[in-house]
Amino acid sequence: MTTPHYRPTHAIIDLNAIKENVRHLKGFLQPEVQIMAVVKANAYGHGDVEVAGAAIEAGATILAVATPDEALHLRKHFPNIDILVLGYSPVTFAKVAADENITLTVYSSDWVNSVQFNSDKLLKLHIKIDSGMGRIGVTTIEELLTLFSDIKKTSNLIVDGIFTHFATADEEDESYFEKQVEKFEKLVQMLPEKPRIIHAANTATMLIKDKHLQYDAVRFGISMYGLAPSSYVKGKLPFPIKQAFSLETELVAVKLLQKGESVGYGATFTAEEPMYVGTLPIGYADGMIRKLSGQEVLIDGKRVPIIGRICMDQCMIALPSAYNVGEKVILIGKQNEEEITIDEWAAKVETINYEIPCIITTRVPRIYYS
Ligand SMILES: *Cc1c(COP(=O)(O)O)cnc(C)c1O
Repeated sequence: MTTPHYRPTHAIIDLNAIKENVRHLKGFLQPEVQIMAVVKANAYGHGDVEVAGAAIEAGATILAVATPDEALHLRKHFPNIDILVLGYSPVTFAKVAADENITLTVYSSDWVNSVQFNSDKLLKLHIKIDSGMGRIGVTTIEELLTLFSDIKKTSNLIVDGIFTHFATADEEDESYFEKQVEKFEKLVQMLPEKPRIIHAANTATMLIKDKHLQYDAVRFGISMYGLAPSSYVKGKLPFPIKQAFSLETELVAVKLLQKGESVGYGATFTAEEPMYVGTLPIGYADGMIRKLSGQEVLIDGKRVPIIGRICMDQCMIALPSAYNVGEKVILIGKQNEEEITIDEWAAKVETINYEIPCIITTRVPRIYYS
């Protein structure tokens, strides 16, 4: 049963776009390379269960998340698929992870030596190498070999994979990237045996770097959602990608402002001549942060600006003429010939496209179609 939503503000998630992006990637990868669908943070704000289902249908064979809780949520809906937690898990999660067949990232011998649990199942681990991201992972050969042998010594743990993460794969300058590759490969070669799955490629790496870096699996994040990791990668995409996220609402009030009348807190916008103003039921508590004041929206296929300060739950737009209450307004997405992209919002608020769907809060229901 789905909960009814009465406020006419929705994020629309195009699951066909997700599937198309995964299928295009599958056609582009070397044969046998597995696709790990990165669905952390509620699938970058798109909805983890729905996106994971679409990605699996299109050929993804592993799900990657950031936290234990995200993994457990997905496990309820997908009893059989491999799930990898990319970030930190406390040792207290080890038993649950083993019981639920959730694979954990490990980078510390202390962690391995303090883990204790009873389960009839093995706990699968992927060793993280910090090759230059400076975040989590082992950094030296000694640390790696100690960690590896500590895992081997522990009866209910198994090394299933090894991986690293690149800091600059989406940039034109390749010098730092190449140093990371060199370090990763040097460390992996030191292991007495090859783990089942070696992986390193994020979206930028799999799309624009040498194909041998696809190794056994790739971690498909941002472009699964139809967004390019950077403007540099956007200019070098090997196949078209399709944005899956759009954001829509409706006019809930329309009024005629006279010359000299103002709009919103602080009365920062004042009409210079009589004009129509429309009110939209979306505000900063929905993730439409105040810095988006001035951003354009689409109504009747035309671009019009948000005027005045954005309120917590509402905002106002300039209307070219008197529209009716109920008229559709597109905040992100296409209408006729016009389109407002996530990249346009990101530029407006001076951030990266990744952040935009993530900050649209749970108060905005996600509606799916495929
Ligand atoms: C988030 C994340 C990814 C996905 O990165 P994209 O640029 O979205 O493809 C891959 N690997 C790790 C470790 C991550 O944290």
